[in-house]
Amino acid sequence: MNDPASAKPRLSVRHLSVQFRPRGMLPGLRRGHILALDDLHIDVRHGETIGFVGESGCGKTVLARALAGLQKSITGSIRCDGEELRATAKKDTSLLRHPIQLIEENPFADFKTRRKIGDIIGEALRLQTPKLDTQARDAHVAALLARVGLPDELAQKTLKALTAPERARVALARALGAQPKVLLCDAPAAQLDDEAREAFIELVVDVAQQMDLALLLFAQEPTALRPYCSRLLTMTLGKVMEQAPTDALLDAPRHPYTRALLERAAISEQSPLATHKKRAAKSAAPALQHPPMGCVFHPRCPLAESACVRSEPHLRRVGPEHYAACHFVGDGSQS
Ligand code: SF4
Repeated sequence: MNDPASAKPRLSVRHLSVQFRPRGMLPGLRRGHILALDDLHIDVRHGETIGFVGESGCGKTVLARALAGLQKSITGSIRCDGEELRATAKKDTSLLRHPIQLIEENPFADFKTRRKIGDIIGEALRLQTPKLDTQARDAHVAALLARVGLPDELAQKTLKALTAPERARVALARALGAQPKVLLCDAPAAQLDDEAREAFIELVVDVAQQMDLALLLFAQEPTALRPYCSRLLTMTLGKVMEQAPTDALLDAPRHPYTRALLERAAISEQSPLATHKKRAAKSAAPALQHPPMGCVFHPRCPLAESACVRSEPHLRRVGPEHYAACHFVGDGSQS
């Protein structure tokens, strides 16, 4: 890009960690806290889409909520177009004014089903532009509905009257009403069938590119994000295990954890449910309260050696724009 402003990352994250004490803490916890996210660094360009993948409980949702200002007990830096958000968050606690907007897996779980769609979307507009009169706000709501492919009559309907695909699009319209610079989509439209989910993700990606937003998608299945993301990161127990351009990560994964994720995804596509469940249980992640010493993947890693228990590997370059946190990747023995 030639524009110097857009050469800077839209989103820049440094040393982001989330650490909290569990309620009714049990004796024997390592250091007496839960490290839900450990020292994460990310840069995302204007209009770029990247994906985070990993099993349930790997830290994806904590990361999404931390970026969107919904998570407490954060350390580190989150910058959006160069502005430190953790400083402004103390002055402005309204999440609908936050430049990073999150579309959660079940975005209307806390909403009354009788609420009108026009009010739900208009709330974000009201906070962004308090002086807008009712007529202008209605026009804005209609424009947002059109942008997500919904008719403007929908503004008069209630949440209860909407289908699941329509609700997903309303969640996107509401997020756009907050005039975000970064969009996050956690388990995008997971409740929809395959066709509707694909259509929704395509819409989100399309809108993000048109508006030059950075887009972060979070999913369990790595291959599900292939068509949309320029880069993928795999996570377990709050740590990034591997980061690479999408095709490199999916076609030539370097980290044993990424390989295990891809294997499991292939099994779930091909094998009967019972076999899949059995294998999935065997390879389940340890509890976040009791992270293994050294490499957190070592209890499940078929290539683990004593060094993996003694010391924790950190992300290092193993190829062009390709990083992996494994002691042995790159020495030729596991490539
Ligand atoms: S550091 Fe050791 S345990 Fe961890 S992924 Fe690499 S080989 Fe496996």
